Amino acid sequence: MDRLAREHRSWNMSRIRGRDTQPELVVRSVLHRLGFRFRVHEQGLPGRPDIVLPRHRVVVFVHGCFWHRHRGCRFAYTPKSNGAFWSDKFEHNVARDSRNGRKLRRLGWRVVVVWECQTADHTALTQRLAATFKAVDGPPAEVARE
Ligand SMILES: [Zn+2]
Repeated sequence: MDRLAREHRSWNMSRIRGRDTQPELVVRSVLHRLGFRFRVHEQGLPGRPDIVLPRHRVVVFVHGCFWHRHRGCRFAYTPKSNGAFWSDKFEHNVARDSRNGRKLRRLGWRVVVVWECQTADHTALTQRLAATFKAVDGPPAEVARE
């Protein structure tokens, strides 16, 4: 297994064990600095979103580019060996994500996806999340006061 595959496997394993991944922690810290209040590890919603902002009716998924197939992303490559295994797995993951997204939207939630590779640039991520929430329902009171 090459280095990238190992990194992605470790992402997957931390997911399975229910530990917070580094990109999740980054997104949480950005949201926190923007003044948002949120919950994490909320059970009982389709797909168990990583971050839930009940007041805004927004859920955030922090997706690993490899497992969730970030389109056009260099991390969403397909390993050369076991091609059929990987394409089955990827297809399954993508189908599950879109199913969960539909369910959530039907329940009245807005679904925001942050890709793992987008968490490297904190400034860009901050701008993007601020813009996303502004579009949803204006800035939160905490930010508007500043
Ligand atoms: Zn990506």
